Amino acid sequence: MSGPKIPTEQWAQVIDKVGGPLQYKKIPVAKPGPEEVLVNIKYSGVCHTDLHAVNGDWPIPTKLPLVGGHEGAGIVVARGELVTDDICKIGEAVGVKWLNDSCLSCTFCQQADEPLCLTPKLSGYTVDGSFQQYAIASARHVAHIPEGVPLDEVSPVLCAGITVYKGLKESGAKPGQTVAIVGAGGGLGSLAVQYAKAMGLHSIGIDSGEEKKALATKLGASAFIDFATSSDIVKDVKAATKDGLGPHAVILVAVNEKPFQQAAEYVRPRGTVIVIGLPAKAYIRAPVFESVLKMIRIQASYVGNRQDSEEALDFFARGLIKVPFKTVDLKDLPKVYELMHAGQIAGRYVLKMPDAE
Ligand code: NAD
Ligand code: ZN
Repeated sequence: MSGPKIPTEQWAQVIDKVGGPLQYKKIPVAKPGPEEVLVNIKYSGVCHTDLHAVNGDWPIPTKLPLVGGHEGAGIVVARGELVTDDICKIGEAVGVKWLNDSCLSCTFCQQADEPLCLTPKLSGYTVDGSFQQYAIASARHVAHIPEGVPLDEVSPVLCAGITVYKGLKESGAKPGQTVAIVGAGGGLGSLAVQYAKAMGLHSIGIDSGEEKKALATKLGASAFIDFATSSDIVKDVKAATKDGLGPHAVILVAVNEKPFQQAAEYVRPRGTVIVIGLPAKAYIRAPVFESVLKMIRIQASYVGNRQDSEEALDFFARGLIKVPFKTVDLKDLPKVYELMHAGQIAGRYVLKMPDAE
C-alpha cells in the first residue's frame, strides 16, 4: 500500500547536551525498521518527565542528541515490511508513548509487565520522541486512538492518563473509598482526579495556589489542601476524610520529595501509598512503628502496559475525562519548560506541530 508523501526533513526540538539549550531546527526524517511505524505527529503533550530528561535528573543517561516527548498523537504514514494491517494500518491515529518498544519475550513482557522489560526503548529518552513531526515507534506498542477523538486533547492521556489510571488500579481502592491525589493541579494530577471520579472514588486534591485549587475542585476533588499554606498536612488530610481516619489510598504525582515522606503518616490503616512522581534524587520515607501498626502498603507504579493504555483511552473516548490543556507551537517548548520549572502549569501544555490543522 502506498502512503502519503513523506518529506526528507522536518522540524524538531533537539538538545545536544544535558541542560540544553533546546534547538528548534530541521533534522532528517527517519525510516521505520521492519517492525516499526513512522508517525506524523500532530500534537504532543509536555510531561514533567521531559524536563527531568533535559536536566539530567535521573540515574539513567539519555541518548544525545535527543528529541524529547512521549505524549505524541498522530497518523501512521509508513511502516516496516513486517507490520501487517492487523497490527497497525497506514492512516490510523496512534499514540507514541513512553514505552516506545519492549522485547515481548523477557519474563516481565511475558506476564504483560511490559514497562518492566529488561531491554525497553523509551520515547524522548533512549530513542527520539514526539517533539518532532515524524516519530518512529514499535508497531506493536503504539496506542490505538479511538476514531473521532481529537488528537490535541487526547495527547496527554498517552502518558499522564495511562500512568494515573494504572496507579489507581494498582492502589486497589474500591468505589466509594477516598484517594488523596498529591500534585492534583499538575498534568498527571488533574487527570488522576477525573479517573478517580470515573472509577467511583472520592478524591482529596493536594497542591498549591488558587488556580490549581479551582481546577482540582472543578474536576471533581471533594476537598483541596494547599501544601504551601497548611501548617499540618497530616492533620488536614485526615480531617478531609469522612471518618477522620485518612484516605484509603494516596497517589503521589508531585515533583518534590517532601510528600513522599509524609504520605505514610496520613494514609488510613490498611491503606496504600502509590509512588509515581520522580523528583530528582528523592527517597521515600515511612515511620516503621506506625507503618507496621497500621499495616500500610507502599508501592510504586510505572506507566502502564498495552491493555492499561487501551482502557485509559476508552475512558477518554467515552467522555469521562476532560483534559485541561493549553496549546502552543512546537517552537515554543522552551516557554513551557520555564513555566513547568516554576510550578505554574495548571493541567497540561500541548505542542502543535507545524503541519497540524
Ligand atoms: P507537573 O509539573 O505537571 O505537576 C506536578 C505537580 O506537583 C505541580 O502541580 C506541583 O505544584 C505539585 N507539587 C509540587 N510540590 C508539591 C507538594 N509538596 N505537595 C503537593 N504537590 C506538589 O508534573 P507531571 O507532568 O504531572 O509529572 C509529575 C511527576 O510524575 C514527574 O516527576 C514525572 O516525571 C512523573 N511521572 C512518572 C511516571 C511513572 O510512570 N511513574 C509517568 C509520568 C510522569
Ligand atoms: Zn510522561
